[in-house]
Amino acid sequence: MEQVLKSAATIDQVWSKRPIIISGPCSAETEEQVLQTATRLANTGKVDMLRAGIWKPRTRPGSFEGIGTKGLPWLQQARKLTGLPVAVEVATGKQVEDALHFDVDLLWIGARTTVNPFSVQDVADALRGAKVPVLIKNPINPDLELWIGAVERVAKAGIDRIGLIHRGFSSYGNTEYRNAPMWHMAIEMKRRNPDMLIINDPSHICGRRDILLDVAQKAIDLDFDGLMIESHIDPDNAWSDAKQQVTPERLAEMLDAIVWRKEDTNSEAFHLALEKLRQQINHLDDELIQLLGQRMKIADKIGEFKKNNNITILQTNRWNEILDRAVKKGDKLGLTREFITKYFDAVHMESINHQNRIMNS
Ligand code: PEP
Ligand code: MN
Repeated sequence: MEQVLKSAATIDQVWSKRPIIISGPCSAETEEQVLQTATRLANTGKVDMLRAGIWKPRTRPGSFEGIGTKGLPWLQQARKLTGLPVAVEVATGKQVEDALHFDVDLLWIGARTTVNPFSVQDVADALRGAKVPVLIKNPINPDLELWIGAVERVAKAGIDRIGLIHRGFSSYGNTEYRNAPMWHMAIEMKRRNPDMLIINDPSHICGRRDILLDVAQKAIDLDFDGLMIESHIDPDNAWSDAKQQVTPERLAEMLDAIVWRKEDTNSEAFHLALEKLRQQINHLDDELIQLLGQRMKIADKIGEFKKNNNITILQTNRWNEILDRAVKKGDKLGLTREFITKYFDAVHMESINHQNRIMNS
């Protein structure tokens, strides 16, 4: 095996480093594969922690369900060889016990576990008294409360270093993504937990290699604290998630291609310019609100007319006409159909609510 560049960071140092880069195979397959992957990752000098699935929750039976506890000593070996702290997914109390027994440095709860409060509680109970940091992936369905509930259960077990992993949400049918990112869910989770570490998992969002970089860049643009990206020494022949894994060297190229952004800078000129632009935005927002208020007053008047003439509130033809006009005008100004539709939907609903109040008063 080639000479290994050894990283000496402890899990405590990694926890406070930004950005945190976690990589490694979807699944630990063989001792050789784990050690080779770890070595090649360490040699890039760009990775802070090694991940590997030991127990794999698979959607359908019959696929590789993980090597099990016998893979845990391989991770210990990999850490000894490279200095990289190691992370595994846990889905049951027993798995937590085994992982802790083999000194795993960080545990994460997978998306299929976060959806089930019984499972999360089982994991949390086994964590009681442990010092290990825990990352909690979003549930497979876009339910923020479930995600928050899992954080609360783990926090109640006394774990004081808890972070989040955004890995996207399942949907029906074929889409560009394996799991739709629904960035607004992650942004809202960040808003509610401003001090909590949140990293992005482009691998499980994309489900394929070619768009990993786009998603990773978007996450960095949105001020995520790090990335978890699956890597494999022979991605095409991986025993799980073959399409989305990349070699350690390709991972390093991707990390080099990312434009790393920070949330803030000390530059006074930057802050002054930003402040000026933000004032303009506030100004325009005030005007938009004024105009919306005026628009609703007119809607109220229409409501009076409809009431006096016993006409229905919803006039589908008129609504189509409004939307059509708006989409065309918006298009000329670079506003997407999707945005205009959402925006006008909201405006239209507010008009309907106003008219409802008038007609039933
Ligand atoms: C994984 O990280 O390999 C995994 C199973 O992820 P998720 O829980 O996001 O499906
Ligand atoms: Mn995977």
